[in-house]
Amino acid sequence: MDSPPVVAIVPAAGSGERLGAGIPKALASLAGEPILAHAVRALVADPRVGLLILAAPEGLEDDMAEVAATQAGTVPVVAVTGGATRAESVARALAVVPADFPVVLVHDAARCLVPVDVVAAVVDAVVAGADAVVPGLAVVDTIRELAADGVSWTVDRSALRAVQTPQGFGIDVLRRAHAAGDSGATDDAGMVEALGLSVLLVPGDPRAFKVTTGQDLLLAEAILAGEGDR
Ligand code: C5P
Repeated sequence: MDSPPVVAIVPAAGSGERLGAGIPKALASLAGEPILAHAVRALVADPRVGLLILAAPEGLEDDMAEVAATQAGTVPVVAVTGGATRAESVARALAVVPADFPVVLVHDAARCLVPVDVVAAVVDAVVAGADAVVPGLAVVDTIRELAADGVSWTVDRSALRAVQTPQGFGIDVLRRAHAAGDSGATDDAGMVEALGLSVLLVPGDPRAFKVTTGQDLLLAEAILAGEGDR
């Protein structure tokens, strides 16, 4: 292998209430397979991914590990019990990463159709020395900032990017970010930024959108139908 091995952490412990499937989102069906199965397939499409660690809802660790293993090929799968927040779920997964994985990806199970090009670009940038790397997409809507009194003003959207996953990090950087405690960040890159480190943006992809609502599930089904079997 000509680059360091990569461990992929998959926080999948959310309840998925907004999807309304009645089961955790990662196990909800998309084109006949659990969302998690699609996400795992997308990650292991990059051959540098050598270990998968899932954060699963309590009691579903074995079920989710089994689902992931069906798509992981020769890549070992470990499942830990997720926490009350996404950050806690990532921290619990991070705690069991073995010593020999210098590069870590954190990828939401819900971004299950991310193309391998995006995964590869994130890994490439970390391997090239970036502390933290996120895929981002230009914002298409006009964005207004709302003030407390209901007055609003237009924000220059040309410099804005909507952040996706996988986010990539040097493992020591991510460990430091999580050890630093709650910074109010809403993702891992934000936690790294709170350490004073830079976060590199690489191009994201519309297919890496997060399946959150029933409408998103329909979109994902349509994308898969258009692509044929991936
Ligand atoms: O809730 P949201 O869609 O932002 O969650 C993003 C990802 O984080 C999902 O894949 C979800 O399963 C995961 N998550 C988690 N542990 C939590 C909450 C969310 O692993 N406590």
